[in-house]
Amino acid sequence: MSQRTFSIIKPDAVRKGYTGAILAEIEKAGFKIVSIKKISISRAQAEGFYHVHAARPFFGELTEFMSSGPIVPLILEKKNAIADLRTLMGATDPAKAEEGTIRKKFAASIGENAIHGSDAADTAEFEIGYFFAGYELK
Ligand code: ATP
Ligand code: MG
Repeated sequence: MSQRTFSIIKPDAVRKGYTGAILAEIEKAGFKIVSIKKISISRAQAEGFYHVHAARPFFGELTEFMSSGPIVPLILEKKNAIADLRTLMGATDPAKAEEGTIRKKFAASIGENAIHGSDAADTAEFEIGYFFAGYELK
C-alpha cells in the first residue's frame, strides 16, 4: 500500500541551484511528486513547523535559516515513503551521511543540510497540513 510523506528542499539547496537535481534523485528513487510549490516563510511560520525542537539550543539558528530564502515543500508518495525518504536523505550531519544520499551530495553542514523529511506517520500528517491546503492534495 502506498504511503505519503512530506519533504522540504531547504533554502541552502534552493540558493545553490540544486532543486532540479534533488527532485531528480527523488523521482529516480521511485517517489511520485503529489504536490510541489516554491515559497518563502516567516520566522514565526518556521517556528510553528519546528515546534517540537523549541527547547533545543539550535532552535534559533534553525528557524532563522529556514526563513532565510525560498524553500520547496513537497508531498511525496510511494510504498514505505516515510522510511525510504529518510534513507535517501542520509544522516542529519552530512559528514556522517552514506555515499549516494542527498545530504552527502548536496549538504554543507548539520545546520544547512539541503532537505527535510518527516520522521513518522503522525508528523507527516501534521507537516502536510501545515504547508498544503486541502485543494492542493491530489
Ligand atoms: P529534518 O527534521 O530537517 O528532516 P532530521 O530529522 O534529520 O532533519 P532533527 O533532529 O529533526 O533532524 O533536526 C531538525 C533540523 O535541525 C536538522 O535537519 C538540522 O538542520 C538542525 N539540527 C539538528 N541538530 C543540530 C545541531 N546539533 N546543530 C545545528 N543544527 C542542528
Ligand atoms: Mg526531523
